This record gives sequence, structure tokens and C-alpha cells, in this order.
Amino acid sequence: MRSINHWIGGKSIPGGSGRHGTVFDPATGTVQAEVAFASVEEVDQAVAVADEAFGSWRSTSLSRRSEVLFNFRQLLHDRGSEVVDAISAEHGKVRSDAAGELARGLENVEFACGIPSLLKGEFSEQASTGVDVYSIRQPLGVVAGITPFNFPAMVPLWMCANAIACGNTFVLKPSEKDPSASLVLAELFAEAGLPEGVFNVVQGDKVAVDRLLEHPQVAAISFVGSTPVAREIYRRGTDAGKRVQALGGAKNHMVVLPDADVGLAADAAVSAGYGSSGERCMAVSVVVAVGAVADPLVEAIAERATRVKVGPASDPDAEIGPLISAEHRDRVRGYVAGATAEGAEVVLDGGDAGGDGYFFGPSLLDRVQPGTRAYEDEIFGPVLSVTRVDSYAEAVRLVNDNPYGNGTAIFTRDGGAARRFQFEAKCGMVGINVPIPVPVAYYSFGGWKASLFGDRHIYGPEGVDFYTQGKVVTARWPDPATSSVDLGFPRTR
Ligand code: NAD
Repeated sequence: MRSINHWIGGKSIPGGSGRHGTVFDPATGTVQAEVAFASVEEVDQAVAVADEAFGSWRSTSLSRRSEVLFNFRQLLHDRGSEVVDAISAEHGKVRSDAAGELARGLENVEFACGIPSLLKGEFSEQASTGVDVYSIRQPLGVVAGITPFNFPAMVPLWMCANAIACGNTFVLKPSEKDPSASLVLAELFAEAGLPEGVFNVVQGDKVAVDRLLEHPQVAAISFVGSTPVAREIYRRGTDAGKRVQALGGAKNHMVVLPDADVGLAADAAVSAGYGSSGERCMAVSVVVAVGAVADPLVEAIAERATRVKVGPASDPDAEIGPLISAEHRDRVRGYVAGATAEGAEVVLDGGDAGGDGYFFGPSLLDRVQPGTRAYEDEIFGPVLSVTRVDSYAEAVRLVNDNPYGNGTAIFTRDGGAARRFQFEAKCGMVGINVPIPVPVAYYSFGGWKASLFGDRHIYGPEGVDFYTQGKVVTARWPDPATSSVDLGFPRTR
């Protein structure tokens, strides 16, 4: 049985706790590896190594840090197939999707290569007579990342590229369901010239997370995962005095106005609803069809969805892979099975996708009502719900009343309506004729409401802010010829 280890101090370290998790191949349902689960002592060891590395890494010049990131970027290009292999083998997503994940993660490395510009401060000469004031941003110390199963490479890269570029050292606790991609990243970082101890991986479960949350040497936590865990991580991390950004789940609505191009909207709904088998936090899960567009839209979605090819990553024709686990597949199936009793119409049931793995085909539910399980829950599977409304106002109300506020999209030819939607939607990311509006790496990613706890979105400029603290220096280099005693309260003159 293959063992999946920790990565501490620039080396692969076998687990010593005696506890481990099972990593399955979702395409076949077979066990493929055991992943070590860190004990409190193993987490402490990783944090100690990271703490020790911090002193010299924060003193490393910006140009050297940038050079390491450029090397890392090149390695991700040259050996990206190793990352893609690890993602597809353990997550199950098809190779084109895994390559897309890597490409979006790589953008964050490219952004972080510009760290010398990103950390430039401000300078006010002669703020007072003979006094200059300037601002600098300094790293926090050891920072931790806790990441979900659905993007085993991209989400760690959202965090660690900026954190490390800013001069912090990093401890990653990846998802125990697909932990190997993080180790490929660790190896490539080492090969890129990153000093030992700057990037560490502790594999594990709640035991490791709990220790990171309470460890006095961990200055900040970035979390991405489900809302109940995000809420708890934020509460406990901030109680312990840490800076925390905790991104949670989603229920993204795509509004289609009557004037929209039906073919274009259906293409978008199918791509964003079923891509990666719906296991994306920015997946569209509810299509809000306004007025007469509903009938042709449902027909166009159904026609396209039946043509989506489900299969393992080893099949080059497959467009979506299996779900992450048997339990999750059964849970997703339950929403489709229970939809009719909740008053919805099952247009497509993906339950018969076949295969030995955790496959579930595209499913389409029409006339899904708010208040039902299919509408309220984050299903996180290839199940697209259509909710019919009569007006734009009703559609916006659904978007804004939803407890989640990750992303939303509108499909229309009316620029005025789109602009109004952009103004009114209570979500962190809005797409206009774009179904999955994940911002490019030089903006920041994050939802509102129960989709994010904290006040800084992840990656991009807000990521640099999150991983640094500001310092303002007021300096005088007196000319001895003009020096005198002054007991008054210091004022600008
Ligand atoms: P999850 O919350 O189950 O797990 C996320 C991480 O937290 C994992 O590393 C896991 O080991 C750890 N964890 C799980 N339960 C814990 C607990 N009780 N205490 C401490 N740690 C715990 O999420 P998941 O199933 O891996 O990922 C899917 C979820 O992530 C979905 O809800 C999805 O919307 C969300 N997600 C959100 C974003 C975003 O940017 N907002 C991005 C990707 C995924």
C-alpha cells in the first residue's frame, strides 16, 4: 500500500502517529493509498521548522524571493503533468479540467512573481519640517492554509504563492481525500530553490486543524471549505488572536432574462452546472429563468446535458469524472430521488451513469421551489435546478435572500439590466454573460454572507494585504545646527 507522507523542513516525513486515512480512486472505487494523519506533536514540529525558517526568509531580498517564484512557475509549466496526474488520480476530475485548475493556480504564482512592486510602500517627504513619514508592509510569520478536496492544487496556490512571496513561511493542511498534489507542489518548490522549512505540508484531519488553530506560533489561517467548518475556523482562530480568512460554500444563481440568447445561456448553464461534476464552489446550481425564456431554456439545457460524456480521467473523451466518494454520490442521488416529492419535475436523472466508481451523470430538475432541500442545500454535484420566476425583481430577490453570496451571473442582451444587477446583487463575484466569474489573479476572490468569514478576500491585492501587516515610520534626521528642546505636544509644522 502506497503511503502518503508529510513534508516538513524540505523532506518527505513518514507519519508517526499511527493514525491514517484512506485515499480512494473515485473512478474505480478501490483503495489506492494511505495518508498519514498528523498528531499534535507532528504539527508542532512543522510549525517549529517554519518558525525557524522565518527569520532568514523574511530577510531574503525581494529579488531573490521573486526569482524563486519565477523558477517555481517554470517548473509548474515544465512538469505540470505531474500535478495533473496527482489531481486526476485522487480527485477523479478529467485531465483537461485538472490542467485548467493548474493554469488558474499558476496565475497566482505569476502574480506573486511581481512581489517587489506589490510591496512598495508610500513615502511623504517633509511631512513636518525635517520629518519624513513612510509605510512598509512586513510578513506575519508562520501562516497556515487548510484546503478543500475539490481543488487540491489551485486553492493551495491561491494561498501559498502570496504568503511566501510576502516573506512568511507556510504550513499547508490539504484535504485528506486527495493529498498528493500538495506534495508535488512541495517538491517543485524545493527544486525552485525555496529554502527548507518555508513550505511545509502536514497531512491530516481535525486533530491537525485544531492544533493549527490554537498554536501560538501560527499568526494567520487561510481556510477554504464548507460553510459550517469555515464558520467554526473563523470563530476559533480569531478567539486565539489570529488573523483568519475562511471561505465557505455556495449556492450560485444564474439569472436568465427573457431577452437572453437561449443557446448561449444553455451552453453556459451546462458548462458551469456540470463541469467538474458540479464540485466547484463557483458552479451554477440554480438557473433562475425569468418569464417566457423558461421552456426553451430547459429544453436547450436538457438537450446539451444528455450529450455530456461521463467517464474516468483515463478516457480522453470523458468530459466529467466521478464524484469524490461513494457517500457523496449517494447524497447527491438523494436530491434527485427526492425532488418529485418536493414538487419539482425531474427532467434528467443522472443516476444511471454506470461504472464501478462514484459516477453520477448530469441531472436536471425543473420548477424547483425555494424552501425545498434541492433549492436550499449546496448539493455539490452535477444537479442543476431551474426555478421559474415572472420578473427581474423576483430573480434578484432570490439571489439576495440566499444565505450564501459567493457568485452569481446574469444572461441578457440589455446592458441597463446587467448594470442594475451588478449594482444590486449581494454576492462577491458577478458574471455578466459569464457563468463562472472567478476573477483573474490580479483581482481578489471571495464571497459575501455565509460564503466568507473575515474581511479580506483571498489572493490578488487583498491576499498581499492579508499576509502582511503595515508599519508606518516617522523619521527625523536632525541637523545638529537647528536642534533645540521643545516640550510641546508634537505637531506638524
Ligand atoms: P470541508 O469543509 O469538509 O473540508 C475542508 C478542509 O477542512 C479539509 O482540509 C478538511 O480536512 C478540513 N475539515 C473538515 N471538517 C473539519 C472539522 N470538523 N474541523 C476541522 N477541519 C475540518 O470541505 P470539502 O468537502 O473538502 O470541500 C467542499 C466545500 O468547499 C464546498 O462547500 C465548497 O463550496 C467549498 N469550497 C469553497 C470555495 C470558496 O472559494 N469559497 C472553494 C472551494 C471549495
